[in-house]
Amino acid sequence: MNIDINKIRKDFPILNQKIYKKPLIYLDNAATTQKPQQVIDAETKVYQNWNSNIHRGVHFLSDKMTKKYERSRENIQRFINAKHSHEIIFTSGTTFSINAVAFSFGEKYIFENDEIIVTEMEHHANIVAWQMLCDRKNAKLKVLPIDDNGDLMISELEKLIGPKTKIIAFTHVSNTLGTINQVKEITKIAHKNNIPVLIDGAQAIQHSDVDVQDLDCDFYVFSGHKLYAPTGIGILYGKEKWLNAMPPYQGGGDMIEKVSFEKTTFNKLPFKFEAGTTNYAGAVGLSEAINYIKNIGLEEISIYETQLLEYATQKLSAIPELEIYGKSQNKISVISFLLKNIHHYDTGLILDKLGIAVRTGHHCTQPLMDRLNIDGTVRASFSFFNTYEEIDILYDALLRVVKMFN
Ligand code: PMP
Repeated sequence: MNIDINKIRKDFPILNQKIYKKPLIYLDNAATTQKPQQVIDAETKVYQNWNSNIHRGVHFLSDKMTKKYERSRENIQRFINAKHSHEIIFTSGTTFSINAVAFSFGEKYIFENDEIIVTEMEHHANIVAWQMLCDRKNAKLKVLPIDDNGDLMISELEKLIGPKTKIIAFTHVSNTLGTINQVKEITKIAHKNNIPVLIDGAQAIQHSDVDVQDLDCDFYVFSGHKLYAPTGIGILYGKEKWLNAMPPYQGGGDMIEKVSFEKTTFNKLPFKFEAGTTNYAGAVGLSEAINYIKNIGLEEISIYETQLLEYATQKLSAIPELEIYGKSQNKISVISFLLKNIHHYDTGLILDKLGIAVRTGHHCTQPLMDRLNIDGTVRASFSFFNTYEEIDILYDALLRVVKMFN
């Protein structure tokens, strides 16, 4: 099956509008993706038909909603090929999931002078959560560098690993550079040294197949909203052995087995990590988004988005004043760039007036900006609902920006 772009675009009602009298060209998919009608309907249906708090109810609606929630969990389990559905924890998103692991894993396994390795291309979520843990426990953060193309220098990893290294946390795909990291390779090196890994999948899960058993990662986290699902829902996948061993990071309803004022015992997985009323409507929306993506086919998505990336890279590279940041051979459909002597913010503002939505700034990767010696970029990030014509319009718009400033 090939991508039927006309059919796909009809599924996204938001795309069919004008911004400043120009057709909207949405190239900010790395920040958040738009939602197909099928996902909007799935969440709406929850509130129209089945809304009821899950797990604790004896009545019909509660039972129905609980089943829908747990079926969503199983669908996500199949999507990432986790061994057990109880290894899938619903959270509010990537940031929450990383903080949960940093808190819970950190509570049990990180002590004074221990070391945590992250990389130079991490999103702030995968830096600050570990930094806060280091502050609490008097531990140290070490950083795996990147090379000038924007690839991780994996050859440096073994030199960074020491007897005190307790976890390695790295992104599957860079949200700023687009680099797809060799996550399986990094995991192998970590495991050879008996170190668990956390992979930040926020920018990977929507672009290609993820198989957590094949990756053999210990934790894999992602957000629904970057995967065509509603906001406020995300996933923490963890291997059963770790999740069983780790303490809960939040106390409250649903995560308990028995509470008394003297002592509380905790529920089994996955509920131990799902305190309070979860975003069950969002979970159903996430499951529907996965069905939608599976229907198109991740392989088809990957092929089409790679073609868009190649086309856009070729076009934009033809603008002499334009410099691309992130030149890995292995990229998802994200292009970060700057126009010579033009501030990224100005470029973004003018593109906006032409109906083109891009992101400007540091993209929550300030240490990476320091490494690149810049304070921000313009970032165009493409989805399978984008077209070659939209790239042509972006190209023409950038030529206009160059002309205006020179
Ligand atoms: N990691 C990466 C690589 C990201 O791109 C993002 C979102 N920009 C996050 C983490 C944080 O995701 P969220 O805001 O959905 O928690």
